[in-house]
Amino acid sequence: MIEPVKHLTKLYGQEKSYTLDVYEKARGFSGIRKALSMEPAKIIDEMKAANIRGRGGAGFPMGLKWSFMRPHPTKPAYLVVNADEGEPGTHKDRTIMEEDPHLLLEGCMIGMYAIGAHACYIYVRDELHLSKQRLWDAIKELRAKGYLGKRPFGLKDYPLEIYVHTGAGAYICGEETSLLNSLEGRRGEPRLKPPFPAQVGAFGCPSTVNNVESIAAAPIALMMGGAEFSKLSRLHDVNDGGCRLYGINGHVNKGQVIELPCGPTINELIEIGGGVTGGRKVKAVIPGGSSCPVLTPDDVFHMPDEKSPLHKYNGMKVFDVPMGVDTMRIAGTMLGTCCITVMAEGTCMVRAALNLARFYKHESCGQCTPCREGTGWIDRIFHKIEEGHGDLGELNEVSDIASNIIGNTICAFGDGAALPMLGFVRKFRREFEQHIQEKRCPSNGSLL
Ligand code: SF4
Repeated sequence: MIEPVKHLTKLYGQEKSYTLDVYEKARGFSGIRKALSMEPAKIIDEMKAANIRGRGGAGFPMGLKWSFMRPHPTKPAYLVVNADEGEPGTHKDRTIMEEDPHLLLEGCMIGMYAIGAHACYIYVRDELHLSKQRLWDAIKELRAKGYLGKRPFGLKDYPLEIYVHTGAGAYICGEETSLLNSLEGRRGEPRLKPPFPAQVGAFGCPSTVNNVESIAAAPIALMMGGAEFSKLSRLHDVNDGGCRLYGINGHVNKGQVIELPCGPTINELIEIGGGVTGGRKVKAVIPGGSSCPVLTPDDVFHMPDEKSPLHKYNGMKVFDVPMGVDTMRIAGTMLGTCCITVMAEGTCMVRAALNLARFYKHESCGQCTPCREGTGWIDRIFHKIEEGHGDLGELNEVSDIASNIIGNTICAFGDGAALPMLGFVRKFRREFEQHIQEKRCPSNGSLL
């Protein structure tokens, strides 16, 4: 059984953990003090060695992302922190902002110095009221002490400033280029890439966009040493290092956010969550936020490449394979944000699919026809099936519509909306057919 760790969550639960006083006594800003004595390139090397895969869902290596930044002759550089946490089932970043905002701010200072930026914007979802307040208060404390400003900590003439920017709460603003548009006061619509933010980011300047938890890991990784931090993970041999926050949601007895070494299995997470409510069996699990295709207890891990370090898991049940960026991809889904949603026996998978389809239809920004129209069509088809008015021809159309969305849109939202729909229909097709043919839900027995 995997054991919880307390690196990111060291201060969680302590009285006034969010104040400068408590933070300074516990952590001492040793990460940024060390960083300011180093060459920025060396900090980036440490982050690469730490193998911090982006904690916001995409899993892109943070150190590598930082290394893409190049000084521009006339333009400033910016660090932008994505605190627009809005993926259904995901609620981990807000715990950092509420319980230990200074850890995030220290990570921001390290990140700015490493990439050559002097300003950082933290883009926070507006309804995260406590997160915003804690960040505002924490920044005020830092300014009053002179830890931000022209000569941080009195150590180096390298001005650092951090601003909190609130977004209105659109899911698509969690996509980095859409977030940048929103930050600039434009509509929150994704941009075509290239150019990537490292070339043309916030206000047309080179920028790096990182997730809250990724940035918060920087002080810890720097103090521990990148390689040592990486080794905390069960999957460090496949470049998936460190520890991270896991959310356990849905039909479990003890829903929670917990810090673990990277690579717990789904079965371990369910056990940590106190098992399934009512002693029922697990029917399905969404591994990391709603855009990750659903898994079932019968899914088997298939890694035919004998040279791959992941071959050792070949033939195992996916629920017993360590969850990592690569293992979940091979299992046909995504690691996403590591906040799992457990669905117990008795859950209507048509209703579950409809719930998500409605969300994606509502949140599509509408720029791309396949996404704008396709998410609406899938929502209407699922709605008809769920109400007992569907037909098999329309069920087959879901695969066509989803296939026409995947790979044909400006941003990853299209794939993130279509792939889970395909997953539900493929893995629970019989259940959809019974809704259509028998006009009843086989999961809970209700008539439609
Ligand atoms: Fe907007 Fe969807 Fe196109 Fe992304 S894929 S740009 S959300 S319409």
